[in-house]
Amino acid sequence: MADAEIIAVGSEMLTSQRIDTNSLYITDQLNALGVEVHRKLIIGDDRALLTDAVQSALTHAGIVILTGGLGPTEDDVTRQAVADALNRELVFSQEICDAIEERFRRRQRNMAEINKRQAYVVAGAEVLPNTNGTAPGQWIVNDGRIIIMLPGPPGELKPLFANECVPRLTKLLPAQVIRARFYRVTGFTESDLDALIAPVYTKYANPSTTILASPGDIQIHLRARCGSAEDSERLLAEVGDPIEALLGRHLFSRNGEPLEEIVGALLRERGATLSVAESCTGGMVGQRITSIAGSSDYFVGGFVTYTDRMKTDLLGVDPALISQHTAVSKEVAAAMAEGARARTGSTFAISITGEAGPESSTGSPVGTIFVGFVSPEGPPEVLRFAMPGDRPRIRGFATQAALDLLRRRLMRLDEP
Ligand code: ATP
Ligand code: MG
Repeated sequence: MADAEIIAVGSEMLTSQRIDTNSLYITDQLNALGVEVHRKLIIGDDRALLTDAVQSALTHAGIVILTGGLGPTEDDVTRQAVADALNRELVFSQEICDAIEERFRRRQRNMAEINKRQAYVVAGAEVLPNTNGTAPGQWIVNDGRIIIMLPGPPGELKPLFANECVPRLTKLLPAQVIRARFYRVTGFTESDLDALIAPVYTKYANPSTTILASPGDIQIHLRARCGSAEDSERLLAEVGDPIEALLGRHLFSRNGEPLEEIVGALLRERGATLSVAESCTGGMVGQRITSIAGSSDYFVGGFVTYTDRMKTDLLGVDPALISQHTAVSKEVAAAMAEGARARTGSTFAISITGEAGPESSTGSPVGTIFVGFVSPEGPPEVLRFAMPGDRPRIRGFATQAALDLLRRRLMRLDEP
């Protein structure tokens, strides 16, 4: 009963011109009621296909919500398809027809004959008045399942859903509460991560677990739904706590915050400041740090030193060091971090130098990245990475690795 399926109707959403946003709104509203969406479909304006889709939805979802295709034209087939799927008649409603006519009259217009199509309802349906448009919604109960038809324009759908559907659904549904954890992890490949935590989460359907991976940043969503907040929290902890223990220092976020936000909060807590010196990432670290509002509290500035000369001019890197070790080296990464810290007076500095590809400029293999870190305590520390992938991927990884090194040092976590 508490699982829903959404069907967005309209051929325009099968082109690149329009995207289905109604289902996002509806999903949020349903989730707040403790209802999960298990599948959504986009179906063109095709009566047979839509009939099929409705029938299929009714075999597994307790709530089926259709949006769009309630207009007056030939290509608006939702009413007819739902009637077909349920084996019911469409019946003309004089009351709806009068309301549509009245709506046109108020705007000093005559109702076109084709608008009468919008006055047809599936036999037995409850009509959901649409105060912002001509096509009313419809609410149908069939074999204990609910089918809801809503107009496509978001300005009509949203108030209709909020005012007419939410109260009806609330009455029907057992009280359910969703609680979620949103982990973010770095330093794993997706397959290594899954091999590690699958033994924990695959034992449970509730909470549900979803894993989303991007370079250097894997997201794990846990969602528990139970009759009470306490039960949901308990289930979340039962699955989440052992996962957290397995992830250890790789886990950087429990509520979905990006790494730059975590690092920013750590710097602020410590009253510390940061500067960055970037070569192959061309300012990506600085960009991410400053994407967080309030970063001026801790971010001093950054140097984008792409050529050898700029590394020397702006950061004071000894030209002899570059000629001896090349710009892509442990020594130069260390000198860049030290130079940034010395020239800005920041508490900490991080640096990146490497080969982002596709060609190597120094002879080091493409994907070689050195990330430097310097603090008021002791000499600079440099990590060397061999990163896979193409240029954007390597640069993304390098940025993430630098931010993560800073995070681990600020938290005084162990070396990799
Ligand atoms: P109308 O009486 O306006 O024809 P309708 O119920 O037939 O209403 P559609 O014709 O399917 O709705 O869509 C009308 C407009 O609403 C579309 O042009 C589109 O801009 C918007 N729309 C429809 N479906 C969606 C959706 N799923 N997400 C976002 N916008 C939508
Ligand atoms: Mg339409």
